[in-house]
Amino acid sequence: MYGKFGETLRRELDSIREQGLYKEERLLESPKGAEITVGGKKVLNFCANNYLGLASDPRVVAAARKTLDQWGYGLSSVRFICGTTTLHKQLEAELSDFLGMEDTILYAAAFDANGGVFEPLLDKNSAIITDQLNHASIIDGVRLAKARRYIYDHLDMNHLESQLREAADAEFRLIVTDGVFSMDCDPAPLNDICDLADKHQAMVLVDDSHATGFVGPTGRGTPEAFGVTDRVDIITSTLGKALGGALGGFTSGRKEIIEWLRQKSRPYLFSNSVPMMICGAAMEVLRILREDPEPLQKLNSNQRRLRQGLCDLGFTVNKCDHAIIPVMFGHHENDAVMAQGIASDLLDEGIYCIGFSFPVVPRGMARIRLQASAAHSDEQIDRCLAAFEKVGRKHGALG
Ligand SMILES: *Cc1c(COP(=O)(O)O)cnc(C)c1O
Repeated sequence: MYGKFGETLRRELDSIREQGLYKEERLLESPKGAEITVGGKKVLNFCANNYLGLASDPRVVAAARKTLDQWGYGLSSVRFICGTTTLHKQLEAELSDFLGMEDTILYAAAFDANGGVFEPLLDKNSAIITDQLNHASIIDGVRLAKARRYIYDHLDMNHLESQLREAADAEFRLIVTDGVFSMDCDPAPLNDICDLADKHQAMVLVDDSHATGFVGPTGRGTPEAFGVTDRVDIITSTLGKALGGALGGFTSGRKEIIEWLRQKSRPYLFSNSVPMMICGAAMEVLRILREDPEPLQKLNSNQRRLRQGLCDLGFTVNKCDHAIIPVMFGHHENDAVMAQGIASDLLDEGIYCIGFSFPVVPRGMARIRLQASAAHSDEQIDRCLAAFEKVGRKHGALG
């Protein structure tokens, strides 16, 4: 049987290669930091989710090592059999405290948190009202639930309201949104969303993966930024981005919701416990966030310096106060070719970033998505700007 199947896959693979959709993976030959080694060459990294620069922070590495020495490597169990340590409970309590939520349940990844949150909570009498551009893991998680599904146009509050009206006869309603959408850096207007939720008797779930730890005055995320922490019912997020960048995810929320998920959520019940090493490191990350304002301040000054610098050079940059900085080329002819060409030349100049074009983003919206990190120095930001000026000029992309 496999002969014919393999043949089909080879043909499909060739086809996506020809369309330029094949994802090549660049091999890093060094730890994650502002500077990384790729193909034997040192380059500045502007495309990681290492927002707070904690992925290789010596304090975090030391905490992971210490926990590894004290607790060993793995647990070889799911949580409810013999896979819950005092560390897991401690991290869950600290995350709840940090986010201002009642309780937290850990998962192996945010992908699992989203995969396991909808199906246990919402049956066929309930409705999920979800932003069109929500993360793939939300889309998959929603598909697993028996609940009715209503998709609203991206950030369109009028459409959200009309979908809430459509769902008026459902027993329970849940509005679902990313806190910050990672392709455009646009935040969900959680104050408006919570107002609509109150008006139409709905609950609110925010996936804050691109915000937890660094959005809002003290890094508590998008709910903090919009002043709605006590109005959001469920937060899902990741330990794999700002909070150390290794692996792990979680769902935080109302006490009964989390208790129910521990009983019913399949990626939690039937998948291994998060390694203790990650619990130890994540608690060190939270300690740093509580006690040391420096990483958050540095990230904010870096993203503003980089965004302003690109604007001053004449690039078109999405204006959000966020570490994601999309440099847009849609107003140029052949925007996709330009974005890819510039990203490729930037790598030659020692700047590692990625061009995105259709079908990852809509046609005519090609971009290079830069991500600032607290790990960058002012000098490294300026080197990035100098390279953008040189390469942008070459490609006729300035002004
Ligand atoms: C990255 C991301 C995830 C997945 O996080 P993992 O912990 O890596 O599985 C989920 N949701 C959003 C919005 C993300 O950006």
